[in-house]
Amino acid sequence: MSSITNHLPTAELQALDAAHHMHPFTANGGLAQKGARVITSGNGVMLTDSEGAQILDAMAGLWCVNIGYGREELADVAARQMRELPFYNTFFQTTHTPVIALAAKLAELAPGDLNNVFFAGSGSEANDTNIRMVRHYWAMQGKPQKSVIISRKNAYHGSTVGSGSLGGMSGMHAQGGLPIPDIHHINQPNWWSEGGEMSPEDFGRARAQELEQAILDLGEDRVAAFIAEPVQGAGGVIVAPDSYWPEIQRICDKYEILLIADEVICGFGRTGEWFGSQTLNIRPDVMTIAKGLSSGYAPIGGSIVSDEIASVIAQDEFNHGYTYSGHPVASAVALENLRILEEEDIVGHVRNIAAPYLQEKWQALTEHPLVGEAKMVGLMGSIALTPDKSARVPFKAEAGTVGYICRERCFANNLIMRHVGDRMIVSPPLVIQPDEIDLLIERAWKSLDECHSELR
Ligand code: PLP
Repeated sequence: MSSITNHLPTAELQALDAAHHMHPFTANGGLAQKGARVITSGNGVMLTDSEGAQILDAMAGLWCVNIGYGREELADVAARQMRELPFYNTFFQTTHTPVIALAAKLAELAPGDLNNVFFAGSGSEANDTNIRMVRHYWAMQGKPQKSVIISRKNAYHGSTVGSGSLGGMSGMHAQGGLPIPDIHHINQPNWWSEGGEMSPEDFGRARAQELEQAILDLGEDRVAAFIAEPVQGAGGVIVAPDSYWPEIQRICDKYEILLIADEVICGFGRTGEWFGSQTLNIRPDVMTIAKGLSSGYAPIGGSIVSDEIASVIAQDEFNHGYTYSGHPVASAVALENLRILEEEDIVGHVRNIAAPYLQEKWQALTEHPLVGEAKMVGLMGSIALTPDKSARVPFKAEAGTVGYICRERCFANNLIMRHVGDRMIVSPPLVIQPDEIDLLIERAWKSLDECHSELR
């Protein structure tokens, strides 16, 4: 903790925070009444707050602390790199060893011919890169009119002007003049809320075919790319029916539309493979990465692109880049994180131990009176809260109110789960062990029970 603040009691820290710190995605006014929880340290899947409470972080920070908290190896690598070369840019024909090693390692891990990495400081920046890169790619091929990127309603691709436009969050579009031109949104494959009388498989196919219809409506020669998260994360961990992705892949292939898989959440083991694209059997031309790339220990993101795209982009100067593209300290930290993920076979732990164990208990949550469907892929899951399971209807209260109550109950019970509307979501550190999963589920049941009592 900073020497300025480490002696202060919680209430004073909260007051200072409320007075001067503008929090992201937060109604900051409310923090003056109810201060933010001050997190002071972490170890494994557990966080400690300024009052000494031990909180089970079932969200891995913001879906990012894949290897868990407290791995000193990353701190050591960062300190070493800061002493040796804290910064140098990668513009103007210069490079450095951490970024070379990281790019080569990512080329080895990424599927297919995704062998080329353009680095950024975050997932949002990486998606901004993608907008410019895919449009530039088509322009370089003599097709500058191929500039429309199709995305999905309720997708999340970041918070900059470009990435926020790619995303399909209506609340974000309502502020600050989004989206930018030539971004088009189709419906999401959320069967629970929007599937009506259709079977999940028919619904999944129909939602995928909206992509084909959009391409035909917009004009085949106008569409540059389709972007999607393999599993929609911030939208509420929406798992598409099995029929969805094969149809999307078929359509992208048929119309020569680049497929951008936003792997910011799904990448680096979250789904039980290195990348969500592998779990869902899709062949992206571009993958957006961030978060689990460094397990959140340093801010870094990037775009991994195919040999074909890279070779076209290489023919001219690409007038794009960030001061921190390939930052040496962040690169060294990311490389060490990948070493740990690989050497400790953490992806195998997700696939063979943690995900099967959590999934079984997660499914059992549907026995709770408030819980409709329970979905999980690897270690990212959601439950839909509903007053009527068979009708799949939402609560009469304003959307999200019940989810918020449930989240508050979890928080009070020292369990971090997030709510998206009336869906509750989890995405714990990948190193979570069966006894910690038992504790997660125990606290989740208790919180659901309390929420249920509060509603009656
Ligand atoms: N893409 C996806 C799928 C995300 O979930 C996020 C963040 O949650 C982003 C992009 C944006 O990443 P960042 O917050 O690092 O800018």
